[in-house]
Amino acid sequence: MRKKLVAGNWKMNGSKAMVESLLKTLLAGAGDSDSVEVAVFPPFPYLQRTQKLLRGSSIAWGGQTLNPASSGAFTGEVSAAMLLDFGCRYVLVGHSERRTLYGEKDADVATRFEAAQLAGLEPILCVGETLDERERGETESVVRRQIDAVLERCGIDSLSSAILAYEPVWAIGTGKTATPDQAQQVHAFIRDKIRAQDDTIGGQIRILYGGSVNGSNAADLFTREDVDGGLIGGASLKAGEFLAIRNAASRG
Ligand code: PEP
Repeated sequence: MRKKLVAGNWKMNGSKAMVESLLKTLLAGAGDSDSVEVAVFPPFPYLQRTQKLLRGSSIAWGGQTLNPASSGAFTGEVSAAMLLDFGCRYVLVGHSERRTLYGEKDADVATRFEAAQLAGLEPILCVGETLDERERGETESVVRRQIDAVLERCGIDSLSSAILAYEPVWAIGTGKTATPDQAQQVHAFIRDKIRAQDDTIGGQIRILYGGSVNGSNAADLFTREDVDGGLIGGASLKAGEFLAIRNAASRG
């Protein structure tokens, strides 16, 4: 039985006041983590406050990216050890915005994934196709290539302490969600692919869906067999909406 995870990627949004009020509302409404886990991914400057507010609660937190180096002359970057210093459990790697806006290639994503795990963080590996790729019928080959880059560098066992997020690029921030059938189809493809290498890891790994999930469409997505929760962008900035998604996951 895989416990669902609802993860909120705040991207470059927020302020001290917003962090304070959003996290306090989530703390009041998130309940225990028996049926569903909740995690938030604030911008780096707010991790310290996040740690202070969430420590000892049922809500986990993580970084939105990391630099694979442990320290050095990498202006503007943040290491895995720094994220751990602020109590992060998770880190996102390979988010499509990192791939498209900052040129992170499959190999860069694999390096970050490895650095995160070596340091003791749990990476959430994001994969997904663009609209052009979907229309050309390349969804599976793109997702396979993105996962294989990590498998080639880190091996199948690395997926026993990682999470996957299928996020079709055409659905991120567009209001266009994949239908539950479309999501399930790709999630099943991913799980079968991993199962072919290791049946246990394939059966246990959590695969989140991301792309315009909100309080109204979450329930349908979460009833699908291989959808183990969501990576939520825009809707994670609104406490009511995010908690509605969390509640949908606890029923799904
Ligand atoms: C995301 O950025 O991971 C995401 C899924 O964004 P949104 O929910 O806004 O589409």
